[in-house]
This record gives sequence, structure tokens and C-alpha cells, in this order.
Amino acid sequence: MKTIQLHDKIFEPYIDRDKIARAVSNVAKQIEAYAGDTPVVFVVVLKGSFIFAADLAKVYNKDAIFEFYRLKSYEGTGSTGEVKILVDLDAKQIKDKKVVVLEDIVDTGNTLEKIIQELQAKQPADLKIASLFYKPKAYTKSYEIDFVGMEIPNEFIVGYGLDYDELGRNLPEIYKLKNEKKNEKMIDFILFGPPGAGKGTQAKILKDKLGLTYIATGDMFRHHIKNETPLGKKAKAYIQKGDLVPDEITIDMIKEIISDPDIKGIIFDGFPRTVRQAEFLDKLMAEKDLIIDALIALEVPEERLIKRLLERGKTSGRSDDNEETIKHRLHLYHAKTEPVKDYYQKQGKYHQVNGVGSIEEVNQRLLDVISNIKLREKAQ
Ligand code: AMP
Repeated sequence: MKTIQLHDKIFEPYIDRDKIARAVSNVAKQIEAYAGDTPVVFVVVLKGSFIFAADLAKVYNKDAIFEFYRLKSYEGTGSTGEVKILVDLDAKQIKDKKVVVLEDIVDTGNTLEKIIQELQAKQPADLKIASLFYKPKAYTKSYEIDFVGMEIPNEFIVGYGLDYDELGRNLPEIYKLKNEKKNEKMIDFILFGPPGAGKGTQAKILKDKLGLTYIATGDMFRHHIKNETPLGKKAKAYIQKGDLVPDEITIDMIKEIISDPDIKGIIFDGFPRTVRQAEFLDKLMAEKDLIIDALIALEVPEERLIKRLLERGKTSGRSDDNEETIKHRLHLYHAKTEPVKDYYQKQGKYHQVNGVGSIEEVNQRLLDVISNIKLREKAQ
């Protein structure tokens, strides 16, 4: 199987025929066990379920009645949230019957909710839901899916009855939308520098330009303090004095964020601030099969930093942007944080960028360094 194009999008092979067949008979077996001696009424939800229902019918070893229900919910690759009935069911075929809805896929659950509400109104003796595919991560409702063929991650899939704008239904295997970003090398790096070097300003621009995730421990702490969370209460006194928050607290906070399986392509700002944090970060990334690609240090002379921070203090509302605390923060930077540079230099990952100039100039310098790193990694 190779990649295919449907309309404007590229899809790649995802679930082969054997796996699909196993999932179908898995559903059939579960329903057989439930059905007992009474024939169930299968409500086939069109259009998507037509192939699933046909294949299930062939391996389902008990008597059954088939009814067809046609709804429409999807436009393109995203759910519209709106579900319309295009072909309704005959109430007589549902009333007092054991009804099993046959869905190809349960995604957000919007379609399912509508089906359940409509079918309940027709008073079946019992109502069960069977779905060949189920996306637990996308599901927003609380109805139980009684018989599931296979759980899948939150990917947009086509084939075996499922479509992208009406194309792809006749594919005998399942394909998933190819995520272009995943194929392009994502870079995980630390934007490094003393307080006032412009890390936050630059990281926010880079994040948008490169589609990266931005993790700023300082912002996270401030958010916790503002919301008076237990973590915020622990961190507050340290931050006000310009001290570093203890490693344990910072590490716990980061651990939680990086455990998100979808996270990749990260800019770290303000972390790691100690060698211990750096060692921890490397370990955590390795557990996720990721690696820090670079530490990019913004260099700005100390007098300028102090001037910038005092200027920022007039509008930032940050209690740590005052002269005494700034000096203390810079002292801590030299004593505790600068050794992180050496740590990554030893790994051949240290890059330096002149942080003096306009925001655009500095940003262009950073982009140049990043594309060089990407090129170098591609060549390896
Ligand atoms: P920032 O916004 O990066 O300047 O961070 C503001 C303050 O938050 C710092 O002065 C520290 O008190 C605290 N902080 C932020 N990141 C860390 C970290 N990685 N380790 C320890 N303390 C941190």
C-alpha cells in the first residue's frame, strides 16, 4: 500500500485488511453473545457503515434484521457538530425490538447522540451501540459504546466506507491523513539567556512561525501564582525575591507537561536553569524518544539587560523587575544557570546569537541558526 491523494489531501496506509477483518468479527462475536435467541435489529448508519455492515452480516452467525438510517455530520476533515437525518427509520421496526446500531466510527459522539435520542423516542426494548472504530480521545459524550471493534488514536481516517468529502469509501483498507508537519523534522531546543535577553519575545514569534510548542516555566509559575494554586503558593516567595524555585518543584511541573503524547517540537524558555534540570530534561526527553537538538543562547551585554528589565518593570507588573531583584537574578544566572551552556556545549549543541538589535533582526538570526541545525540533522 502506498500513499494516495483524495481531493487536496494525502493519506497514508494505516489499518490493513486483516486487522479490519479481525475487528469486524470481534464486533460480531460480542453481539452474538448479547443477542441470545431473539433476532436483533441492526440499524446500519449510512453512508459510512455500508461495508462494515455487509462484512459483519457475512460473519454474524445468528438471525438478524437490517434497517438503514442515513445521517450526515461531516464536512471535510472536521466535525461540523451538526447532524441531519436524510433517511429516517420506520418506527414499527424499532418499537419493542432489541436494536443494535452499527456505526463505522465513533468520533466526537455528536452523530451518536442524535441517533440515540431519535431511536429512544421510537421505544426499542433495548438499544446497544456497536462501532467498528472508536476514538476515545475525541469522544465528548457519556453514552457507552457497547461493542467496539478497535480503538484508534485521534487521526482522520478514510476507506472501508469512510470518506473524505465523499471520496475514499471504496478503499478496502483504512488510510489516515498524512500530517505534513510530522514529516518535516521538528526541532526541540532551549532558548537560553539571562533575564532580559528577549527570550520570551523571540520564542513567541518563533513558535508561530515554526508551529512549535512553547514552554516557559516563568510564565507557568506566574499563571499558578495568579490562580493561587498549591504550586503557585509554593513558588511565590522564591520568585518575588528573584531566587530560583527549587528544582523538585520545577521538575514536577515540567514532567506533567512533557508527558503529553502529542507534544513535539518544543521551545523551552527559562528551563533548564540549572545543570540538574538539564540532566533531568535529557532523561525525560529520552523516555519519549526525543532529544534536545540545540541550546541557542541570546547574548546581550549586562548594562543593556539591566536597562531593558527596568524599562519592562514600568509596565510588566512583575514584582521581580526592580533593581535589587534584577541584580540578584543576574547573579544567580551566572552562578547557577550559565553552567547549562557548558553542559550542552559538551554535547556539541551550543549555538550563540547576538541578542542586540531590533526584534526582527534578532528573530532572523535565530531563524538562520535553526535552519542550519535542521539542515545539519537532515544530512546526518
Ligand atoms: P522568567 O519569566 O523566566 O524570568 O522566570 C521568572 C522567575 O520564575 C525566575 O526568576 C524564577 O524565580 C522562576 N523560574 C522560572 N523558571 C525556573 C526554573 N526553570 N527553575 C527555577 N526557577 C524558575
